[in-house]
Amino acid sequence: MAPPTHFTLNTGAKIPVVGLGTWQSKPGEVRNAVAFALKDGYRHIDAALVYGNEHEVGQGIKDSGVPRGEIFLTSKVWNTHQPNVKEALQKSLDALDVDYLDLYLVHWPVRLVPNGTSELFPVNPDGTRAVDRSWDQSETWRQMEEIYKSGKVKAIGVANFSIPYLEELRKKWTIVPAVNQVELHPFLPQHELREYCKELGILLEAYSPLGSTGAPLMTGPDIQQIAKKNGVSGVTILISYHVNKGVVVLPKSVTEKRISANKEVIEIPKEDLAVLDSLAANGKAKRLNTPLWGFDLGFADWYGPVKSQ
Ligand code: NDP
Repeated sequence: MAPPTHFTLNTGAKIPVVGLGTWQSKPGEVRNAVAFALKDGYRHIDAALVYGNEHEVGQGIKDSGVPRGEIFLTSKVWNTHQPNVKEALQKSLDALDVDYLDLYLVHWPVRLVPNGTSELFPVNPDGTRAVDRSWDQSETWRQMEEIYKSGKVKAIGVANFSIPYLEELRKKWTIVPAVNQVELHPFLPQHELREYCKELGILLEAYSPLGSTGAPLMTGPDIQQIAKKNGVSGVTILISYHVNKGVVVLPKSVTEKRISANKEVIEIPKEDLAVLDSLAANGKAKRLNTPLWGFDLGFADWYGPVKSQ
């Protein structure tokens, strides 16, 4: 059976299983990457205000000639903007030059407090991030629910929410997040989070599926062995892994050949999926994205110990 091309959100909307990531895609590169991807068949773009390139992403969308209605477009409210989600959303809509988003996410379950040191990454005098530990994420979510009701976003969700953070949020939510976007790959499979989200009807999205900058995960012996066995590249295994697990995957590239290659999804045999699922438990666990505010809040509390995921 061919792998699915779309999953369904808890809103009923369809979401393409592969989306183009845009973090670290430089202005000057990202416009072409987005236009090329859309012309090449992508219909899903993952953006964020903090990536500092939404204007160029919007230009790429226009250049592609693909109608807005055919594209699934995501953006995210940045940590410093949590007290005013509506304003943050408008900034993204203006930069992208669109009237609505298909999905809007809370980027991190943390509020950073602007203090004049930096608009997006404020720091305390001792160099730590200016985190407001007293901020209630339910307040951010209340605002997300409001903008959902306004119709400017067709779905709302979260990113980087571990189970304890979702448990807290769920005490007050009236709308269940459609999506939780987290770091996910065979070396950080997050099985517990996957089960938890499935039960609540929250779709997982995999970020850094290739291991982020430089795509370090594709060349490892475990991935290479399964790739050879299936006659495909390591990248195809890393991308297909998620789709086979019912997870949306967001590979980033600004290189045309790679953008094309990254849309290839195969059905991975059950026995190979089982190997991929067990790599982390067999001593290969690794997390690549470790933001400073994660450490600031206590990493074990933040995500739970990596080994158990
Ligand atoms: P990825 O795991 O997608 O890896 C990107 C790197 O892999 C780039 O260096 C890219 O190079 C390279 N690459 C891409 N395709 C290939 C290929 N076929 N062969 C060889 N190398 C390749 O990293 P990201 O961390 O960017 O994650 C993907 C997306 O997820 C982000 O762009 C963003 O949209 C989202 N994200 C969300 C986060 C969140 O907090 N919500 C955090 C991190 C990411 P090049 O571009 O030069 O081709």
